[in-house]
Amino acid sequence: RFTPVQQTDFDALGCKLASISHGYLPPQIKDFNDTNITSLYENYNQLYQEFHAHLKPCLSRRLASKLNTTIAHSLPVMNIGTYLRTVSIDFTIIQYIHQLNNSPFQIVNLGSGTDLRAFHYLPQYANLTKFIDVDYPISLDFKSRAIDGSSYLTSFSTSRYSMVPWDLSKGSLIDILIANGIDVAIPTIFITECVMCYLEDSVANQLIQTIKANFLHGLWISYDPIAYSENDRFIAMMNSNLIELRNLSMPTLLKYNSIDKYSNRWVSVFDNLIAYKILSLWDFYMEKLSNVGKLRLKNLQFLDEIEELKLMQSHYILLSIRW
Ligand code: SAM
Repeated sequence: RFTPVQQTDFDALGCKLASISHGYLPPQIKDFNDTNITSLYENYNQLYQEFHAHLKPCLSRRLASKLNTTIAHSLPVMNIGTYLRTVSIDFTIIQYIHQLNNSPFQIVNLGSGTDLRAFHYLPQYANLTKFIDVDYPISLDFKSRAIDGSSYLTSFSTSRYSMVPWDLSKGSLIDILIANGIDVAIPTIFITECVMCYLEDSVANQLIQTIKANFLHGLWISYDPIAYSENDRFIAMMNSNLIELRNLSMPTLLKYNSIDKYSNRWVSVFDNLIAYKILSLWDFYMEKLSNVGKLRLKNLQFLDEIEELKLMQSHYILLSIRW
């Protein structure tokens, strides 16, 4: 049985499938002002359709129906949010990869859940020497069963890809990454997409320290909800929904209740920092999307609640730090 925190991955997947079915994802070339990330999404629809089809038989009736409910009830603002979360992470990763000038690099997706990013990146970059997904054993067991059931999906699963079943609150993550082919001397991209918010403070901080202590160069991208004060109403509502519906809490949300406090968790540890940037997803929407792109997203389901989109997306941030 999945614990409440493990079930959050089905929400993420349901939202992604909803965004795909309504045409938000994959992004289109015209969506952006300058950067083109669309080559990453060449097989996007087929990847997720196949995955969904082969995941279904692995799910209990209850989980399958919850997933269907998430897909059916995902509101336009949420679908745009899923789009922004997905493309902003890829944007940041691609900028970093370009700076590497074809030298080898690795990606570790911590708390990857069912995310299929590995299968977008591996065919695109021959210099991507290793892509590792880390999550609880039960989560990766489901993921690998769905992948193994599809010849299309297994064709993406090369020796450069590994799933590492692991509880991030346990020690020696580094040993297990090295045992799975990670080289600490090669630039490494760490992704925590809606994961740090579910970790206890001590666990999250230990993770940051461990990665800083072991990896010489890298990029860490962390996406999370953020509160702006102790009485932030949006976050209070989100928290009480989570507790009521899921018996789940986000332990550090009110502790790191500003952009500075959030980024300081990394900045205070990485004394060899080259650069860092933190922005809200609303900022990303305003800065990076073209007018044509904004219009495309709004028209897909006739969104007129732009203030609601602004409120919601101001409460999600993307931190990237480079060392
Ligand atoms: N990153 C994926 C995405 O954005 O699509 C999944 C996000 S989901 C909201 C959070 C994920 O973090 C779940 O898959 C959960 O199992 C994983 N997770 C949370 N705590 C974890 C821990 N202590 N060890 C391993 N995985 C963890």
